[in-house]
Amino acid sequence: MIKCLVCGYILREASVDINKHAMPSYNKPLDIKYCPFCGVSMEWFGEEDKRVLGSDLNLDGDTTKIMDHAMKLEVFNGDFYKVASEKCSNEENKSFFKALSNIEYTHAHIHKRIIGIENLPKLANISYERFKKDEDFLKEAIKREEHAINYYNRYYDKVCSKELQTLFEILSTVEKQHITLASVR
Ligand SMILES: [Zn+2]
Repeated sequence: MIKCLVCGYILREASVDINKHAMPSYNKPLDIKYCPFCGVSMEWFGEEDKRVLGSDLNLDGDTTKIMDHAMKLEVFNGDFYKVASEKCSNEENKSFFKALSNIEYTHAHIHKRIIGIENLPKLANISYERFKKDEDFLKEAIKREEHAINYYNRYYDKVCSKELQTLFEILSTVEKQHITLASVR
């Protein structure tokens, strides 16, 4: 079986399109171009017994802090997109945000695994009062994706492992795709 070497999930035919609304193109059962869970491209797919990126790393204190913040940032965005999927009025925007939410939570799970903790943190609820229309959510989505990309850029040189630098590059690419997808809505 084939798995994603970034998030570690097995790629099964039945689940190839679960988050298709936030992918550059839809997957076909025998032609999976993007991981349906974390959104990375097929160059990161490998055999089931292959090592997942960032496995069994010994993180130093600074790197643990950077990864912890990255995990919270992804949860923060996952929470926001989940609410956006509930509050948007357009059905396509709802599907888009639901898929985005799942993908960002998968990114948070990647960081959680690398840090080596059991559960994702629960963040305080924020107010959604200023978001009245679908467009408000889409504009905020672009800001949040830019913020995530900036974060991965800023801390690229500060993490203790080359593999984490690679991970930051990969996730930034996925977040850039999200900006493109949000921009055309
Ligand atoms: Zn994946």
